Amino acid sequence: MAELAGAGFLAPPLDSIFTRSADANPSVFLTFDDGFRDVFEHALPVLTQHHFFGIQFLVSDLLGKTNLWQQRVGDVSQPLMDEVRVREWLAAGQQIGSHTRTHPWLTRLSEDAAREEIVASKKALEDKFGFPVEHFCYPYGDWDQRVSDLVAEAGYRSACTTAAGINPPGASPFALKRFTARYPTRNLKAMWAFLRDLSKS
Ligand SMILES: [Zn+2]
Repeated sequence: MAELAGAGFLAPPLDSIFTRSADANPSVFLTFDDGFRDVFEHALPVLTQHHFFGIQFLVSDLLGKTNLWQQRVGDVSQPLMDEVRVREWLAAGQQIGSHTRTHPWLTRLSEDAAREEIVASKKALEDKFGFPVEHFCYPYGDWDQRVSDLVAEAGYRSACTTAAGINPPGASPFALKRFTARYPTRNLKAMWAFLRDLSKS
C-alpha cells in the first residue's frame, strides 16, 4: 500500500469505476473476499493511513461466524467479521459488497437456488447495515452467463471474478478481473512485470 501511495496511486471506492475520466489519477481498486476478521484488524488501519478505500465482500449468513465453506475441505477455522466490526468498517468510509449467503459454487446450483443466494444476500446486508449493496463477487470465481445474468437482474452494478488481469474501458462490469495480492511477490515491481506480460499475451 505504501508503494502504491508513493507511486501516486489512489484507491477510490469501487463505485467510481463507472465515473472515471481518462485523465484521472492512476488508481487501483482494493477488494477483499469473504469478510475475514483479520482484514478488519490488519488492513483497515493501513487503508485509513493512506486514505485508501476497499470493499469487503461478505457472506451474509456467516457474519460473526467462521469460514465454514473452507473448513468443509480441510482448512483451519478463521473468524469472520461480525456486525459490530462491519459497522465500524462502514463508519470508517469503507464499502461492503455481497459474496452470497453461504459461499456456494453458483454454477452448480439450480437457477432458483442461485437466485436466492444472490438476491437474499443483497437484501440481508442492506436491511442490516442501511447501505446500498451494489457490488458482487462470485465465490471461487465460479460463474457463467446464467449466473452473471442473475447478478445483473438482482440490481448489482458489478461483479468480481478471480480471473487475473486489468479491466480496460468497455470491459463488462459483471466480469471484473483482479489480481491476488496475498503473495510476497506482489510488490509494485512484480505488478508492473505482471501487467507487461499480460499486455504481450
Ligand atoms: Zn470467497
